[in-house]
Amino acid sequence: MLPDFRLHQRDYLTKITQAMSSKLNLPDLLKLILESAVRLLAGHAGLIVLRNENGKLSAAASIGLPRDVVPYFKSLWENIPADHTKDIPDIRLRLALASRATGVLLRQVVALPLQFEEDNKGYIFIFRGKGEASFTISDNQILATFANQAAIAVHNAYLYQQVIRQRENLNAIIENSGDGIMIINPFRIISTWNKTLANLTGISTEDAIGKPCYDVLNLKTKNGMSVCHTRCPILNSSEYENMYIEGFHKRLDGLKISFADKYSPRLNNEGEMYEYIANVRDVSHLRENEDLKETLLAVISHELKTPVSIIKGYAGTLAREDADWGKDVIRDGLIVIEEEADKLNTLITNLLQASRLQSGHLKLKHTQIDLSVMVKKSVESLRATTAKHQFEVEFPHDFPYILADYARMWEVITNLINNAIKYSPNGGMIKLGGEVLDNTVRLFVTDEGIGIPPSAHSIIFERFHRIDNSLTRKAKGTGLGLFLVKSVVEAHGGTVWVESQPGMGSTFWVELPMEKIVRG
Ligand code: ADP
Repeated sequence: MLPDFRLHQRDYLTKITQAMSSKLNLPDLLKLILESAVRLLAGHAGLIVLRNENGKLSAAASIGLPRDVVPYFKSLWENIPADHTKDIPDIRLRLALASRATGVLLRQVVALPLQFEEDNKGYIFIFRGKGEASFTISDNQILATFANQAAIAVHNAYLYQQVIRQRENLNAIIENSGDGIMIINPFRIISTWNKTLANLTGISTEDAIGKPCYDVLNLKTKNGMSVCHTRCPILNSSEYENMYIEGFHKRLDGLKISFADKYSPRLNNEGEMYEYIANVRDVSHLRENEDLKETLLAVISHELKTPVSIIKGYAGTLAREDADWGKDVIRDGLIVIEEEADKLNTLITNLLQASRLQSGHLKLKHTQIDLSVMVKKSVESLRATTAKHQFEVEFPHDFPYILADYARMWEVITNLINNAIKYSPNGGMIKLGGEVLDNTVRLFVTDEGIGIPPSAHSIIFERFHRIDNSLTRKAKGTGLGLFLVKSVVEAHGGTVWVESQPGMGSTFWVELPMEKIVRG
């Protein structure tokens, strides 16, 4: 007896077609197609094979068949050319072979191509078992109508899958891009904020998306103009197409990052801008190098010029033919020239060392050094440069030798003593000494000078960093001395730090690891 739904076949087909067109998930869709087709034809089992990108057919869904035997039905679809659009040839023979290979007794099959335009997407097979009625021509026609609809639905599901895959690829590209990427709409609301940008700015994707960019990224140009500011006309003027901005962003953790930011507009078919893609690049390194060059030039022109003009002035005066200078005047003049030449020499050495350190070319020549002797020698050589200061050197008698680079350690000690002199303009006691700890030795230089506020204790060791106040401004300097001290000490595996309060003097400590020490 024919099932009731045969009587309402058209209604049923329409319903299935609607259900199919709303399904875009391929496995769900194939299941729906098979279930409907088997019911429609009062079948026993069903199978769909689909063509992959290389044109090869393979089983994609089945119903009423043991899952593990499905691959052995392959004689049903083997050797069918990709451009074959009609019924499968020798279908009875193919079914007999498949039944024999699998042991599943299927006597009847109706098979139709899933054809979309010129494209064969695969086949649908509906089976009946032994003793069930044969498929009729009308069954074939019903399945043909159904297969056409199913092919369209499969085609749409493929397209949908493709779109999803492309979107996933695009997301992966955006997420893994080395540049920060932000996408904003015409109202400056952020819709995309990739991982790189989250790392650069310290602002997470969750915190950024959905917010106006001026609330999230406080990007300012060098002149202090706010780039994402509401009044900034970037979003409504074509003048700003492909706008390139360089600015900076201050992170919550205090780190300031220099950005290069390129905005590319995206237009819809009507030529209206609907979003901006901002490519954000961290150019802090470049900016730092530029700043460094500027500082270096300023320091060189300022610090080198002064001693050079003093030397030139004295030399010119002493060489005047119309003057007959007394012996004392000539001596005093030559002493000034020598002192200024020494200053020049120190400055040039420091500059050269700084550039070697920066390029990683500092090579250490280790020898056994008695630090206590070195400190005493350098105090003796510098004692003559000041009449206001007294020196006290105190080392334990068993202070060990260390393995270090003699010339570099000499620079460390003279820089620290010079600073102690320079930054205690009213004179006072300068104490130097050493301590032996479990695994390390320590060296200290203490003065009774102007002191250093705790907030500056770490930055004074950075290149070109000088504390800007009236007291330090009086003392000439390049801000390179402590940078060199730190770099040399660290190259020896040690550390350096300062203990100080403004107006209370300073103590600089150098600690070197014991491994380098050979007990004397
Ligand atoms: P420079 O002395 O050429 O300026 P340094 O790198 O040696 O450069 O020192 C950096 C800054 O640290 C100095 O400008 C000064 O502000 C501060 N400083 C260094 N040593 C002392 C000290 N002994 N007492 C007070 N301030 C110091």
